[in-house]
This record gives sequence, structure tokens and C-alpha cells, in this order.
Amino acid sequence: MEILKTIKELKSKLILIDGSLGFVPTMGALHKGHLSLLKSARKENEILVASLFLNPKQFSPDEDFHNYPRNIEKDISIFSDSGVDFVFMPDEDQVYPKGFSTFINNLEGGVFEGEFRDRHFEGVLTVVAKLINIVNPKRIYLGEKDAQQLFLIKKMLEDLNFDVIVRPVETIRESNGLACSSRNSYFSRKEFVDAGNIYQSLLKVCTLWKEGENDSSRLKQEFQKNLEKLDDMEIQYVEIVDPDTFKIINSLKNIKKSILIVAVIFKGIRLIDNIILD
Ligand code: AMP
Repeated sequence: MEILKTIKELKSKLILIDGSLGFVPTMGALHKGHLSLLKSARKENEILVASLFLNPKQFSPDEDFHNYPRNIEKDISIFSDSGVDFVFMPDEDQVYPKGFSTFINNLEGGVFEGEFRDRHFEGVLTVVAKLINIVNPKRIYLGEKDAQQLFLIKKMLEDLNFDVIVRPVETIRESNGLACSSRNSYFSRKEFVDAGNIYQSLLKVCTLWKEGENDSSRLKQEFQKNLEKLDDMEIQYVEIVDPDTFKIINSLKNIKKSILIVAVIFKGIRLIDNIILD
């Protein structure tokens, strides 16, 4: 495995490669979710490139960019054990040189995550577009855990005619159901256990829907009711949306597939999750 820090170095390696290239972008602090992306990419491609770049542009000023977990040595050994061929680990000025001023925005990105995280998707779309242009992969691997991000990246690739295949990878969870996330390391043991209620509540909504409840508000109330018992739990949004358009669905009558998306702040830590109602 080789670690490259500049675009020039990475390109000089990749130009010699003849074979399908799979790409897994990450911000580091790797966990089982990232491992699953790496595993799928390793299986399907001849060459595997991963990036580790903590993208400052996707954090708003009040967020945890400076405290975000960093564990570069461990991440490198995980990449190596996962069969990564090249790790792209640029410094900030490689990605955003002085004078950088072009950003990608999606007109539909101002809702849900976009409402609560100022300029978040602008940062995400811009860095993903740049990384794809730098790496030029055949396939890119993205987690379903970040459902709106996945939707907006797919939309960008389609709208801007990028020639890359998106492989969505299903959400990997801890044994209590909590979706794996780099931010889970902020929790104490007890908080971690309690945070498992988020997924249990998503499952309860799913059960209610399977029993025939089609009214979106009642399904959303079920989620809220289940989490109310937890101290220090604030629900930022809970919505049911169409997976292909991310538009809100009010009645699930005759709807075959939808996603329940949620964002909560538990013990000061912001978490997102979702479940597919299919
Ligand atoms: P991040 O390092 O948080 O930017 O995430 C890098 C990639 O890993 C993104 O495509 C995420 O959607 C994906 N990812 C994060 N958590 C999970 C998870 N629990 N299961 C599957 N994929 C995940």
C-alpha cells in the first residue's frame, strides 16, 4: 500500500494503472461502516483507492471540526488490512489552494441536514466532485447511513454528467443497533447503550407501518414517543421521504418504498439515522 499526499504524486501512480478502480472516500476515524465500504470495493475492483481527508468545508463554524476524532496510525493500518492499494491523504491546501472559490451547490439541499448544517452539502458535494476528478474511479462506494448525502451525490453525478458508478453500501450497526459513526466515540458506555434506542425506535415505526399504519404523522409520532423517555434527547427532524426524490411523503398508502430519516441530538452529540420502509 502506498500513501500519497499530493495530487501530483497520486496521479503519477494512477496513470500507470490499467484496470477497474474502486474508490472509498472517508474522513478517517475508521469504524466497521468504513470497513464494509472497503470490503465491497475490494471485491469488485482490481485497484482500490481510499482517501482520508477531514474536509473543513463541510463543518459549520459551530460544529466539531477541531475535536473530530483523529487516529491516523490506526486508520492506516485498517486501510492496509483491507487491501487498499493507494491512500490519498492530502493536506488542506492541496484540496483548497489559496484563492479556491468554486463550490457546488444543489438547490434541493437546504432541507433536513441542509437546514441544520449551514453549507454542509456545499462542502460535501465540492469535495466529492474534486476527489472523483482526481482519482477518476470506475466505482465509488458510499454509505446508506448518510441517506441524504447519498441522494445528493447521485444527483450531482447525474446532473453534471460524471462517468462513475455509485455503489451504495448498507448501514453497519453496533450490537445494540446504533449506527456505527466516528462520533460514537464521544459517548460514555451508558450513553452508548442508551443511544441504541434510536434504532429500536426506527424499528418500532417499521413494525407499525408493516401492521398497516399509512399515516406519516402517526408513524413519526411513534418515533418521538419512543425517544421521549430519554434524558437530554432532542429530535431535530423526523420525516418520511421518497428515496428517489427526497420529497416528503404524507400518506404511505400505495407507496411501496420510502425512507424514514431522523436527526437527533443526544447528550450533546448529533446523530443521524434512517430506515427503509420497503
Ligand atoms: P465519513 O468518514 O463519515 O465521511 O464517511 C465515509 C463514508 O462511510 C460515507 O460514505 C458514509 O456514508 C459511510 N459510512 C459512515 N458510517 C457508516 C455506517 N455505519 N455504515 C455504512 N457506511 C457508513
